[in-house]
Amino acid sequence: MDRIQTDMRTALAAQGQRWTRAREVVLAFLEGERMPVSAKEVFKKVRLTGINLASIYRSMDLFLEKGVVDCVDSPGGVRRYELSDRFRPHHHHVVCRECGSTQDVAGCGVKGLEERAAQSTGFKILSHQFTFVGLCPDCV
Ligand SMILES: [Zn+2]
Ligand SMILES: [Zn+2]
Ligand SMILES: [Zn+2]
Repeated sequence: MDRIQTDMRTALAAQGQRWTRAREVVLAFLEGERMPVSAKEVFKKVRLTGINLASIYRSMDLFLEKGVVDCVDSPGGVRRYELSDRFRPHHHHVVCRECGSTQDVAGCGVKGLEERAAQSTGFKILSHQFTFVGLCPDCV
């Protein structure tokens, strides 16, 4: 069992929560995936395991709450998930306005902006999300 699964089991057990098969399947899927995926996309790929869509949504909500996954919302209202910055390098996203397809953009480049945000507001900045909205090659 790898680090993420171990982390999650320990955190959930400490709160008296069970480690369900749905959680295990969803997390294992996200670990093998390199791009953000929606709950429905996960559902299609893990269909053979018999896990239902509602369980996948519940698992994603829990992972989001625990900081294990981050989400990327598309303009069409589809939410996609991926492992959080705790488990992979921090990066940003491009989202297609027409079809909603989403891809990672390596690196960051907005550190200066983060410092300005902290200085001008007095906030202690903990994280940021940054998404480019545009048209993918298929939709241009
Ligand atoms: Zn597109
Ligand atoms: Zn990403
Ligand atoms: Zn960044």
